[in-house]
Amino acid sequence: MNSFEKSSNSLIGVIEGGGTKFVIGVADFSGTIIETKKVKTETPEKTLTSIFKFFDFYSQIVGFGIGTFGPLNLDPDSENLGQTLDTPKKGWKGVNIKKVLERRYQVSVAIDTDVNVTALGCYKNHDYKSPALISYITVGTGIGIGSVFDGKIMRGRAHSEAGHSIFGIHTNEKSFCPFHNNCVEGLASGHAFKSNFSAQGDQIPISDPLWNFETTMLSLLIYNTLTFLAPDFIFIGGGLINASIKKPLIDKVQKYSNNYLPNTNHAELNEKIRLLPKENNCLIGAYFLFLNQHEGT
Ligand SMILES: [Zn+2]
Repeated sequence: MNSFEKSSNSLIGVIEGGGTKFVIGVADFSGTIIETKKVKTETPEKTLTSIFKFFDFYSQIVGFGIGTFGPLNLDPDSENLGQTLDTPKKGWKGVNIKKVLERRYQVSVAIDTDVNVTALGCYKNHDYKSPALISYITVGTGIGIGSVFDGKIMRGRAHSEAGHSIFGIHTNEKSFCPFHNNCVEGLASGHAFKSNFSAQGDQIPISDPLWNFETTMLSLLIYNTLTFLAPDFIFIGGGLINASIKKPLIDKVQKYSNNYLPNTNHAELNEKIRLLPKENNCLIGAYFLFLNQHEGT
């Protein structure tokens, strides 16, 4: 199912699959999201039943774009393309939402990770001078990085796992990654932050030493992203990110760069590192993911 037929009232189903909720919607062919609904992430059976209930109403849907939590099988030659791999989310391992929707609605379904698709939506929501490379770092339940170059998600046959970068930091903080003692996700994700410090991040003032460790880890991730990819912009978002985190992050990235990386004085970093705008980035990204995979059809 790699082609689709559209008419003037055709719609694309768009899905953002998150750890606590799915945001689902429909977009018209101008890319406008015309309806959305939030569905709690429960067992796959319950969540998919709610998703079906929403989309069954729209007979004009000619395809779907999905950005969802991973890890995902994204190998285009695999017969299990779209399958959820080794996730700790109960019941979701082995679920293939792409295949489920293709079977039910007999239309083509494009899928990628939520962080990649959000990066794509973020790219499409702004008018960048070509060529442009943007990266999106999410710091929520987990940590991930998605990058988009000239309107296309950057990856090969798998998605990146930048949240599991290991920085060799020696710390007494407990890692919440089942695989690594000192990866950035294990030490600095929202889950780790709240578990280590028993509080909501936004209830702790940024001057608190607890945030010092958090911003050190995240600024290392940002600095390394700048060294690896040299993105024109880095957007940061997710449940643990708030406006007060930006300045300490920039201060530390500048310190690590130590005037080595180009365009990394404080004013330039302030321009380059941005908070993710509160737009429907993932749903817009899901719409363009579908279109990107069906160009010329
Ligand atoms: Zn890890």
